[in-house]
Amino acid sequence: MTDLKSMDLAEMTSYFKELGEPSFRAKQVFQWLHRGARSFDEMSNLSKALREKLTQSCLLAPPTVERKQVSALDGTIKYLWRLHDGNCIETVLMRYKHGNTVCISSQVGCRMGCAFCASTLAGKVRDLTAAEMVDQVLFTQLDSDAPISNIVLMGIGEPLDNFDTVLRFLALVNHPDGLNIGMRHISLSTCGLVEQIDKLADLRLQLTLSVSLHAPDDETRSRIMPVNRAVGVERLFASCRRYFEQTGRRISYEYAMIDGVNDHDWQADLLAGHLKGTPGHVNLIPLNEVKESPLKPSRRVGAFQRRLEEQGITVTVRRKLGGDIDASCGQLRRRQMLEQGQ
Ligand code: SAH
Repeated sequence: MTDLKSMDLAEMTSYFKELGEPSFRAKQVFQWLHRGARSFDEMSNLSKALREKLTQSCLLAPPTVERKQVSALDGTIKYLWRLHDGNCIETVLMRYKHGNTVCISSQVGCRMGCAFCASTLAGKVRDLTAAEMVDQVLFTQLDSDAPISNIVLMGIGEPLDNFDTVLRFLALVNHPDGLNIGMRHISLSTCGLVEQIDKLADLRLQLTLSVSLHAPDDETRSRIMPVNRAVGVERLFASCRRYFEQTGRRISYEYAMIDGVNDHDWQADLLAGHLKGTPGHVNLIPLNEVKESPLKPSRRVGAFQRRLEEQGITVTVRRKLGGDIDASCGQLRRRQMLEQGQ
C-alpha cells in the first residue's frame, strides 16, 4: 500500500501524474488528507473511479482513540492512540495562555535507555511514519476542538533517531495547504544525538531545540543516560554551540531534578560554567516518579535554581500539567501494556 499521506506535495504530484491525473489532483488530495479525511470516499471532488483506485492502492488508516484522559485540574488531555497495526502511542494536549500545544510521539517505544523514563522500559518497537506524526496533531485537534498553534516533539521516542521522517513531518505540518504551523511554533527535544544535531544545524530551521541534559558531568550523565557513554558532555556542548551559531536559536536545556543524583551545588556550578559560552536557558523539571525506577524527585529544586541564577543563568521550573492523569512521557502506554500483560 502506498503511504500517500506521508508524501509532500511534489511527490504526490508525480504520483498522480503516473496515474494519468492532472496535477491539481495532488493539491486537492493533499488538502483533504491534511484536514482529516478518514477515507478516500469523503473526497467529493474526485471521480468515483479515482476514489476507488486510491482506496485499493493507498493506506489511509487514521488512529483510533484507545484511551482518553482529561485532567480535572487544567484541561490537559492525554490520548492513547491505537495505530492500524495495533501499536499504541501517546499524545498530550496542553492549554497554555500562548495557545494550545500538542506533544507528540516520534517512535513506538524508545531505544535510548534513560534510567528515569517510562517510554524506554520495553525498548523500541518501530519508527512512526510522517503521516502517523501528522495524525497525532490533526486528530487531537479534531477530537478536542482545540485549535493547535504549537507542536512539541517530546512524547514517546527519540525524534533524531527517526531523523528523515521527522524532517518530512516538519515540512508537512509547516505546509500552507496542510496544518500551516510555523517553525517557530515547533520544538524538538533530543537526548543528545550529536551527529544529528549537527545535521539539523546545517538545515538552519527556525525551530526550537531542547536538549535533555539532566547532568553536567560525564559520570552522572552516563549513569542515567546511556547515550552519553559514547560521546560525553563536552562534545554535546560543542554541538549545541555550533547549533546556535548556525541557526541563531537559543537552546533550551531540560534538567529533570533527581534526588541525590544531579541536584548538588557543584553540579549547578558546573552547569553554569558550561552555559557561559553557550546561549540558552535551563528548564528544571520536577521528576515524575516512574514505578519501575528507584529514582526519586529532588527536594532541592529551588536551591538549585537560585544557584544557577546567581551565576547569571536564565532558569524556569516546568509547571506541572495533567498531574492527575499519568501525563508524562510513556506512562499511559506503559500502564496499558502492563494491564494487557505485555
Ligand atoms: N527523546 C527525547 C524526547 C522525549 S522525552 C528526549 O530525550 O528529549 C521528553 C522529556 O521528558 C525529556 O527531557 C526527558 O528526559 C523527560 N523525561 C522523561 N522521563 C521523565 C520523568 N520521569 N520525569 C521528568 N522528565 C522526564
